[in-house]
Amino acid sequence: MALIVQKYGGTSVGSVERIEHVAEKIAAFGAQGHKVVVVVSAMSGETNRLMELATAIQPQPDCRELDVLLSTGEQVTIALLAMALKKQGVAARSFTGGQVCIRTDAAHNKARIVSINQQRVSEALDADEVVVVAGFQGIDEHGNITTLGRGGSDTTAVALAAALKADECQIYTDVDGVYTTDPRIEPKARRLDRITFEEMLEMASLGSKVLQIRAVEFAGKYNVPLRVLSSFEDVAVEQTGTLISYEGESMEQALISGIAFNKDEAKLTVQGVPDHPGVAHQILGPVGAANIEVDMIIQNVGADGSTDFTFTVHRNDFQRAQTVLEQVTKDLGAREVSADDKIVKISLVGVGMRSHAGIASQMFEILANEGINIRMISTSEIKISVVVDEKYLELGVRALHSGFGLEQSIEVSQ
Ligand code: ADP
Ligand code: ASP
Ligand code: MG
Repeated sequence: MALIVQKYGGTSVGSVERIEHVAEKIAAFGAQGHKVVVVVSAMSGETNRLMELATAIQPQPDCRELDVLLSTGEQVTIALLAMALKKQGVAARSFTGGQVCIRTDAAHNKARIVSINQQRVSEALDADEVVVVAGFQGIDEHGNITTLGRGGSDTTAVALAAALKADECQIYTDVDGVYTTDPRIEPKARRLDRITFEEMLEMASLGSKVLQIRAVEFAGKYNVPLRVLSSFEDVAVEQTGTLISYEGESMEQALISGIAFNKDEAKLTVQGVPDHPGVAHQILGPVGAANIEVDMIIQNVGADGSTDFTFTVHRNDFQRAQTVLEQVTKDLGAREVSADDKIVKISLVGVGMRSHAGIASQMFEILANEGINIRMISTSEIKISVVVDEKYLELGVRALHSGFGLEQSIEVSQ
């Protein structure tokens, strides 16, 4: 008998039929003698719909009230799933985040889980009930409802699995595992049997939204075995999905595990900055003070002694960053600000890169052969990222995917 935490995402609970299918899967697990805690997301599209209602009233919604609103999506699905389970004769009970004491900090809309009191969950499990918990939400120390940021139900599931010392945390979604890249962009993408926490963290940080970054961080920190699987498979089908775990000795060391991309970034350049000590701080200080996170940064001194200073920010912060830079440009006596939000970042990720030179030049050659101009480059031990024009996203991802031999192996019959 095992204790399993299962999470079902928005598409997996997107209709009454899907919810009933999920209930069947859970019932089958229970019938094998396992104890199951289930975390669910809101029905697909619901969080966006609620967001639109809020912004129709307040373009920048009040963050406390936004959390009260957004958390309702998950409250609908826990109740419906508990009903579907009971209809199938499975004892079940639904709980909101607050009811199972998922305590977070007070950072509305992007709260972090600080503790979970598992007493109520344990009591229900001891009473042989399936426990259905609302993902994405918690309460702060004053009892205010908080939410964990988009994709946050993944983190609820991993945190519950850590708190309950579950045998495994299973993330059921609309794909049957983690692929070498998003299969929606490259249909030849291949499912990975295993990937390390480190690689998955890079993939998630660099834009692969199959798992929320914090969920991967949490799983790595508390060593929670994490598996991504499909919720659409028939109940009887045994799936292995993708296991995310620490690097094992027997693990094949792929050079490149995957390709991630991020369509949410925008690029800003302050041109003709006088080259003297402190300019980087004079530019990025006000940007940081405006609470804008900066990702990639490039600075290069030109022959005339002035420099161009380029960096990327999230597209949501693009307008605000531009306004901040207009002022900075005046203060510094720089020439002008240029801005471009039609860019994307494409990244190669793989722990095998550590011991191999030449991956970067191979990457640049593949992109050059497709006539793709690279606007920015950044590297770390296990990743190389480039910024290119948005129109090259699909071409770039597919060319790199095939150039590094990541496709599915095709069996040729004679
Ligand atoms: P859920 O609603 O179940 O949380 P998400 O939409 O958050 O599902 O995550 C699943 C989606 O992640 C897939 O449909 C896929 O398009 C996308 N995705 C991005 N990168 C990858 C990848 N490397 N492997 C698998 N899926 C990926
Ligand atoms: N419903 C939330 C979202 O759409 C949380 C989640 O699905 O994980 O982001
Ligand atoms: Mg998700």
